[in-house]
Amino acid sequence: MNKISNSLAISDQAHSIHPYTNMRAHERDGPMIITHGKGVHVYDSEGREYIEGLGGLWSVAVGFSEPRLREAAMRQMDALPYYHSFAHKAHEPSIKLAEKLAHMSPGDLNRVFFTNSGSEANDTVVKMVWFMNNALGRPEKKKFLARLKGYHGITVAAGSLTGLPANHKDFDLPAIPVTHLTCPHHWKNGQGESEAEFTARLLKETEDTILAEGPETIAAFIGEPVMGAGGVITPPEGYWPGIAALCKKYDILLVADEVINGFGRLGTTFGCQRYDFTPDIMVVSKQLTSSYMPLAAIMVSEQVYDAIADNTEKLGTFGHGYTASGHPVATAVALENLAIIEERDLIGNAARMGELMQTQLKALEGNPIVGEVRGVGLIAGIEVGKKDTAEAIGPMGVLAKSVYMNAQEEGLICRNVYDTVALCPPLIVTEDDITQMVERLTRAFDRTAEWAK
Ligand code: PLP
Repeated sequence: MNKISNSLAISDQAHSIHPYTNMRAHERDGPMIITHGKGVHVYDSEGREYIEGLGGLWSVAVGFSEPRLREAAMRQMDALPYYHSFAHKAHEPSIKLAEKLAHMSPGDLNRVFFTNSGSEANDTVVKMVWFMNNALGRPEKKKFLARLKGYHGITVAAGSLTGLPANHKDFDLPAIPVTHLTCPHHWKNGQGESEAEFTARLLKETEDTILAEGPETIAAFIGEPVMGAGGVITPPEGYWPGIAALCKKYDILLVADEVINGFGRLGTTFGCQRYDFTPDIMVVSKQLTSSYMPLAAIMVSEQVYDAIADNTEKLGTFGHGYTASGHPVATAVALENLAIIEERDLIGNAARMGELMQTQLKALEGNPIVGEVRGVGLIAGIEVGKKDTAEAIGPMGVLAKSVYMNAQEEGLICRNVYDTVALCPPLIVTEDDITQMVERLTRAFDRTAEWAK
């Protein structure tokens, strides 16, 4: 390690608290310091190059060195580096971005509220839905339906919606009324059932839960079209149209959490379009700015908006908002980022390169520790397990973590989520990038399989 990065590492070990990190292990082992990025690659302080196979945190659509985003940020910094949007104040980039999102989104999701992060956005969804139902004179309609392994963030309400043990244990979550339904993972949870039987069982479970709780108490169903952070779980055929029909039948709002899926990840603009349903509320973030700036948006239907707006008229205000809601630099960067995605047809590229990636990854099914290879568009999960029974191999997460570490040595950054190794590369990937990524991952799996013998 060179002198500067050595002293940075020592300082980091002494002072930083890292998210999603074993703090004591970090004090011992120290950080991996990333110094710069170019295209689909990032470089560490030792000068090593990696393909960023997870696009940062499932989020860098346009790659790591897009000059147009830097220039958009600089232009906005010069013009108006900050202003808020409280109490009727407005500025050009947030006005234009709200209009752009309203035009892009499906259905009548014409009204847009900005936050800084996906977690804040999902917290805001909970508060908006509660605010709306109080206004409509149905204060008992407050519960949420979510899914085990769903990920909706980590703030108190959003973390409650998340269905992963690590986000609840010792945090006293869930702290809001939420029921977590079965994770729609056919291979893992539907062994012995056809895909159609599995879908029917999940829909029956959902309807039974609604009836047992009382439809008059259930406010909303929230889900990611394809689950990301829970291990890249693609839904079985017919699942989403079935859920949408149940929501309609029982007057339950359907919330699509598109924080990972949105803006082309699945080869369609939004994940709900890939799975044929139209939500009442949609949450986006990550690829909205390629994560160059922190920003998320909530889009709501005219019906939801009207109920909320009427109540603000009654109360005199909407008592909710963030200092940086619709931040001018973040919204200016988002507009430029969306323009790049359109001009370069990155959604089309995601569809084409996604097919190539999914086809090449299928070969990993020949590896003895691989149970399932799944994915759609440019997101994939390779799960360690026994192919025919979906049983785990060894203690939870150990082999997947070994693959992740071997991949890093091979020059590929990916992510291990419990027993799954996830890929979610930038939307700008080329055929050559895909081939290299899959080659590196294959070597990593081979080394782990050899070690596990
Ligand atoms: N929703 C989904 C689907 C996510 O994947 C994430 C983050 O990974 C979030 C919400 C939370 O977003 P943030 O980390 O910006 O709070």
